[in-house]
Amino acid sequence: GPAPEADNHVTAWLASHEKGFKHFIGGSFVASKGKDTFEVVNPARDTLLAKVAAGTAEDVDAAVKAARKAFPAWSALPGHERARYLYAIARHIQKRERFLSVLETLDNGKPIRESRDIDIPLVARHFYHHAGWAELVETEFAGYGPVGVCGQIIPWNFPLLMLAWKIAPALAAGNTVVLKPAEFTPLTALAFAEICREAGLPDGVVNIVTGDGATGAALVAHPDVDKIAFTGSTEVGRLIRQATAGSGKKLSLELGGKSPFIVYEDADLDGAVEGVVDAIWFNQGQVCCAGSRLLIQEGIAERFLGKLRRRMETLRVGDPLDKSVDMGAIVAPVQLQRIQALVKKGEEEGGTLWQADCALPAKGNFFPPSIFIDVEPSSTVSEVEIFGPVAVAMTFRTPDEAVQLANHTRYGLAASIWSENINRALDTAARMKAGVVWVNSTNLFDAAAGFGGYRESGFGREGGREGLYEYLKPDWEKSLPAAEDS
Ligand code: NAD
Repeated sequence: GPAPEADNHVTAWLASHEKGFKHFIGGSFVASKGKDTFEVVNPARDTLLAKVAAGTAEDVDAAVKAARKAFPAWSALPGHERARYLYAIARHIQKRERFLSVLETLDNGKPIRESRDIDIPLVARHFYHHAGWAELVETEFAGYGPVGVCGQIIPWNFPLLMLAWKIAPALAAGNTVVLKPAEFTPLTALAFAEICREAGLPDGVVNIVTGDGATGAALVAHPDVDKIAFTGSTEVGRLIRQATAGSGKKLSLELGGKSPFIVYEDADLDGAVEGVVDAIWFNQGQVCCAGSRLLIQEGIAERFLGKLRRRMETLRVGDPLDKSVDMGAIVAPVQLQRIQALVKKGEEEGGTLWQADCALPAKGNFFPPSIFIDVEPSSTVSEVEIFGPVAVAMTFRTPDEAVQLANHTRYGLAASIWSENINRALDTAARMKAGVVWVNSTNLFDAAAGFGGYRESGFGREGGREGLYEYLKPDWEKSLPAAEDS
């Protein structure tokens, strides 16, 4: 059943902020300059969790000023001293693991098993890993220094993990940040602000301004921001690229995907079935690198799909606080409606829809595990990122055909390849136009491995050595004449 104790702590914390959450600027929680707030809703129960400030351009400006003020001292600290703060943050996250897991599940709708065993441990791991980099940055990246004030904008699917991916490397490299969480899921970012205080982080090194796209746009437009790091939709990524063009701001974009999941006839079929469960039903399919296009070699297609269909029927969809639940709620009604509309379109275009025959809770935004069988590679559901628990399946005959189908997408974030023949798997892997390729596995993340896309999935890498370059610039840039203000 649910975790009552952590649940109580979260309930008490939310109750203590009944009048509404404020922004975190310059080390304090400060009221918004505007009067607007927005409501944060539990997507599994359709109940109000909190009211949060809608950040204005003035709020963003105050946060950027605080980050600018903190930058000289923070960037001048020896790396090993910055590391101490990152280690402290990591330890505080571990100390509050239960609290953060429950809060994340209430806010996002993801199963508690995932927030407890995947999201929050990976958050701590990301800060530990980058504490190590903070110690090494001066020697390993000699000739490079921090970029300055970083504006960071994140989505709602892995709220605290996306925050960690952004903040940990930025701080390790000596930058200061203004982060805007997604409007559906700002709560763990606000809990993180408290953790920054507990860890004794100097004021202004991390600033959090809540709000929606307008707040994000104000951060992107702010003239005193040196770098923008964005994770979210390809559409908004395109807007941000246009808005920053010619500004001199450094930019990295982590965008959408439609990643292939290739099953060869010599694969361990039961293992591959579990892989599909993880690829498309993990986090209700709201995963940028979800294996949403299932490519199966013709000879085993019927047998494999039969196994998969039986496995689908055993998945439990329901209250995400229940530890035995496999799939929780879709983050918001608007996302659920988008999934429903795309599934309807898939049926209109002639796809055969398989849906698990499971009872969905009466309240909340739920959608059953689903697969379209025998779809055309050019159909809408094969091309558009659904960002929900819906896979499309098609067959191929030869490895060449598998590669061609796999790369038939405007995206290029990830790919999974299943085969017991390692030569075949590695040969296929080398031909994938994707930033991450998994062999006989899927959705594996590690703080030490660079993650990012090709083509419309964006550019730049997060994690490991590669990821640090996004938050560093060569020292010779400092000696360039300053751009003249127009
Ligand atoms: P979104 O692009 O609508 O929103 C992402 C963030 O951008 C939110 O914080 C939002 O408030 C902000 N935003 C919206 N309009 C803005 C604007 N004009 N200027 C600045 N900021 C703005 O995306 P979403 O619906 O929150 O997330 C889902 C999408 O994110 C999917 O397409 C998914 O593939 C992608 N995603 C990618 C990755 C990755 O690492 N590549 C990870 C997670 C999600």
